[in-house]
Amino acid sequence: MTTTVTLTGTGVPIPSPGRAGAGVLVRYGRIALQFDAGRATVLRLTEAGTGLHELSALFVTHVHSDHVIGLPDLVMGRWIQDHVWRTGPLDIHLPEGEAVGFAERMLDPYKSDIALRMEHVQSVPPELRLHPFACSARPREVWSRDGVTVEAVAVHHEPVPDAVAYRVRTPDGTVVISGDTRVCEEVEELSRGADVLVHEACRTTALHAAMAGTPFEKIFSYHADTVALGGLAERAGVAHLVLTHLIPAPEDEAGEAEFASDVRSGGYRGRITVGGDLMTATMG
Ligand SMILES: [Zn+2]
Ligand SMILES: [Zn+2]
Repeated sequence: MTTTVTLTGTGVPIPSPGRAGAGVLVRYGRIALQFDAGRATVLRLTEAGTGLHELSALFVTHVHSDHVIGLPDLVMGRWIQDHVWRTGPLDIHLPEGEAVGFAERMLDPYKSDIALRMEHVQSVPPELRLHPFACSARPREVWSRDGVTVEAVAVHHEPVPDAVAYRVRTPDGTVVISGDTRVCEEVEELSRGADVLVHEACRTTALHAAMAGTPFEKIFSYHADTVALGGLAERAGVAHLVLTHLIPAPEDEAGEAEFASDVRSGGYRGRITVGGDLMTATMG
């Protein structure tokens, strides 16, 4: 069997052509795991050939709108089509704290829509099947089925609380998904020997002088500097580094090459992919 890792979105809050909001899909046979649901995740999943009814579970990294704005869309979409597929509600795994509050409230604006649909087609309301877990500095298993496991570890995206990275192990290999974080030891440890590391990327070092004194300086301070990330990936022995959540979004191939050259200058010698939507890495 093979495991596929597909980027369902490589963008950030500021819109950029062709880049949906944050999201990664990991598939192993009939198991389909979605990490985050940013802008247009539903559309990208459909384009990737994965129906909403096929998702086994969804995992939230943290509550920033660019990572969760597509979550009500996904839950409503799965509910609306469930008279066809009858797969039932989606299991949503998320850190305790803000993410739970967000998820509990996210369908409130659709109350009248839900009531109308229930008078018309749907027989039951959408069920939110939330599975909160405590953030921890050491990896803890949050999901497993048929030889596939998912672990979570707390990362450093302060001042945002309760942000996590995930590690997925399948019989084919290991993939780590950073979520949003500064370059940190927790992700380095989690990524030791990983086949694929999907990491957020920010050109902090390269743009340091230009951003000084602007609001971008604060934004860059809680994201992962591409040069330091190259050092992390090399020390951890990552085979394939996939950059996503690109800050600032590159406008052409030359701009993409700059991300890769930052990572090389940080010391990484493995395979680099500067992510684009629907790019897929394969293991096994
Ligand atoms: Zn983000
Ligand atoms: Zn964030």
